[in-house]
Amino acid sequence: MAMAIEEAEAIRLDRCDPDFIREVEEAGGLNVSACYQCGTCSGGCPTVWAMDYTPRQIIRMVHLGMKDEVLSSMSIWVCSSCYTCQTRCPRGVHITDVMSALKSIAIREGRTPANPKGPVFYKNFVDIIEQYGRMWELELSLKFTHKSEPEVPNKLAMLLRDAPLGLAMFTKGKLALAPHKILNIDQIKAIYENVRRMEAEK
Ligand code: SF4
Ligand code: SF4
Repeated sequence: MAMAIEEAEAIRLDRCDPDFIREVEEAGGLNVSACYQCGTCSGGCPTVWAMDYTPRQIIRMVHLGMKDEVLSSMSIWVCSSCYTCQTRCPRGVHITDVMSALKSIAIREGRTPANPKGPVFYKNFVDIIEQYGRMWELELSLKFTHKSEPEVPNKLAMLLRDAPLGLAMFTKGKLALAPHKILNIDQIKAIYENVRRMEAEK
């Protein structure tokens, strides 16, 4: 786990990017400069326990222009986009959108966190949505297992490790054996094509 910001020896301002906050706001992270560090976002975040920096710390690091640290953190990938922080923020900071903007910038710049599981999860998630128009949890878990731990050669052992969880999900109706493709999947594919075209034009 990365060192929490208050434990760091010093913040190297000479390595900070003063334009980073503007870049984040332009990418959709609105009102980030309005944050007054109350910590409400971190207090209500359901995934903060798995983050290396809390949402409040991420916002402060964006203020300070700590681009490298923010874009290589796991926090932006661990965020589940639940919007709890964004709806509670007393300053109207679009924190969830900040997290999404940071993911977009990280992808655009080819940054990967020390633990690559976050980007692997998101890549496979959006690929499956493009294919079926909705999630197929079985394919997602198989792809995630296969790609997220390349250092583990024995994939069969990994599957056996995860089998009890898969069985529990299956018995509760949370794991379909076949995908359910939505009607008019072409409309979803058109959205993806539109986004790709817009990205290429940037
Ligand atoms: S809740 Fe809003 S104002 Fe408070 S620390 Fe989080 S972003 Fe800043
Ligand atoms: S949107 Fe992300 S950062 Fe905000 S509370 Fe939910 S998981 Fe935490």
